[in-house]
Amino acid sequence: MRKITKLTSPRGQDARPTQKRNRLRQQRALGSLIETALDSVPQGIAVYDDDEVIRYANSRFSELLGIRKGQICSGMKLQQLLDAHAQRIGTASMYEVAFAKHGLKRTRAVLHINKAVNRIVTVTQHAVATGGWVATVEDVTDRRNVERKYSLNINSDSLTDLPNRASFMELLQQSISHSRQEKKIALLCVDINRFNRVNEMYGNEVGDTLLKAVVYRLANCIRTSDTLARTGSDEFAIIQAGVKKPKDAAVLASRISEALSQPYRVGPNSEEVSVSAKIGIAIAPVDGIEVDVLMKHANLAMYRAKNITHTDYSFYEPGLDADLITRHALEQEMKHALQRNEFELYYQRFVNLEKGNVVGYEALLRWQHPERGILMPDKFIPIAEECGLIDDLGHWVIRSATQQASQWQRGTRLAINLSPLQLQNRALHHVIQESLKQAKLPAKQLEIEITESTFLHNSTINIKMLQRLKRLGARIVLDDFGTGYSSLGYLLDFSFDKLKIDRSFISGYPNNRQSALLVNAIVGLGDSFGMVVSAEGVEKLSQVRQLRAVGCQEAQGFYFGRPEPMKGAHHSAVV
Ligand code: C2E
Ligand code: MG
Ligand code: MG
Repeated sequence: MRKITKLTSPRGQDARPTQKRNRLRQQRALGSLIETALDSVPQGIAVYDDDEVIRYANSRFSELLGIRKGQICSGMKLQQLLDAHAQRIGTASMYEVAFAKHGLKRTRAVLHINKAVNRIVTVTQHAVATGGWVATVEDVTDRRNVERKYSLNINSDSLTDLPNRASFMELLQQSISHSRQEKKIALLCVDINRFNRVNEMYGNEVGDTLLKAVVYRLANCIRTSDTLARTGSDEFAIIQAGVKKPKDAAVLASRISEALSQPYRVGPNSEEVSVSAKIGIAIAPVDGIEVDVLMKHANLAMYRAKNITHTDYSFYEPGLDADLITRHALEQEMKHALQRNEFELYYQRFVNLEKGNVVGYEALLRWQHPERGILMPDKFIPIAEECGLIDDLGHWVIRSATQQASQWQRGTRLAINLSPLQLQNRALHHVIQESLKQAKLPAKQLEIEITESTFLHNSTINIKMLQRLKRLGARIVLDDFGTGYSSLGYLLDFSFDKLKIDRSFISGYPNNRQSALLVNAIVGLGDSFGMVVSAEGVEKLSQVRQLRAVGCQEAQGFYFGRPEPMKGAHHSAVV
């Protein structure tokens, strides 16, 4: 310290001229050597004396602080340096703040962000025993960048650089704890539909490009105060800050779905691909103050948008849980239920009213759920239709029921129910044909029951399949007739073998006048079109008598027998 101080101090007077001059020359030579050495080190070094006066500073010192070289000179007061620095970077520097906080002489390491040159430097001060201190300034930009990148890799998704699920949960926790009744936050869970198809069709590279494009559009939809993260392969989450009313979140959700649904051009051939988004929204603190709860609620809302309301976005609502969770759980469980043999067919007889004999049995599906007990078809058929399991399930029904029917008395008919979606699968014809062959069951003994909804969507394809099945020899039956569809036009498009009057018209029959008129009309319709008419849901003798009297040929209902497993059902007594 002393030596360095002397480097910049004024020359003293020579007592013994030659000796002193030599010593001085030597000292100056040594001084400039040290100066050169200090100038070549990567750190910036400054030496202060006890009066806060700079006695020495190397050129790296001014360089790293972003101050012009000539601005720092020996004899300069610390305050002058701080002023020069503040002037350079336009604000009071961290350097100054650190001095104010820690005092001058204490040994401290201070992080200093030098905005002017966009570098990160640390300033370390070493108090010196003889008074004053040495300040060392070090450029740590590269080290910090590496560290930051490393920590980014842990907390962020490598493809998109967005926060990953784990770090998003932390950010969400912070946002929830800052949310208030008047300053809410909205959590939006965004699920990209059809992303997997793009991956399958064009490969992962194109899939990755698409994801980046999605992120770009998402980022353009949000404000800087919002947070965007990638929470799953094709799932994103957004924390929308400063939400005053739900409408604010709805506006953002619409903006996102609009932006994401515009076509993308990806891949080497600039293929045009489209995806869409389903968004679930939960608001904190109203919909939850715990991260897991809020995430679950936003996901439930997304599930609802996707599977129930079929809208672009949906809000969480209390009470949504139970139904949706059950539905979601059933969907997952159903995937294994077929392998685990949990499905079973019950059979319900139907009779010829005139002769009073059983003409056949309708196969009705049951799920013997290991925990929930017997589940009825209305609880799981719609889910099977949605999650694409209806074909496998339907094929199982066809194979099992035809096998069962092969044991019955000759001529006993088998009725099976088909969902409209099954008609769109070309394999259906083959499965039915093969199953009949295996069971050695004549096709004319098979009745295929479909509902009016078959004619709502893709009716041309559906009608074609029905025609093929009819050509095979099967009888085609219109089930639940009178519900669901207002036009009778489809009776002209396809010639059914049988109409089953929906049980809602039979329940008040014969006392209810309207029901009676309707049943009469349907029987008349069947007569004119050459179709057998059957009544469903027959529970009373009075109904049997009246139906017989008006010329309804067949009937089915608890009066004749409930659906039951086949053990002995076909031996029971008739009317
Ligand atoms: P559906 O084909 O109209 O079947 C008749 C339904 O009415 C059956 O309900 C049966 O138990 C019930 N039922 C029969 N007689 C009476 C009665 O006298 N009174 C009352 N109150 N109800 C009676 P289930 O078994 O719950 O089936 C409901 C629906 O599920 C069926 O209606 C059918 O559309 C569908 N379904 C059943 N099995 C299958 C299947 O294997 N595949 C497909 N796609 N759908 C099926
Ligand atoms: Mg039916
Ligand atoms: Mg029915």
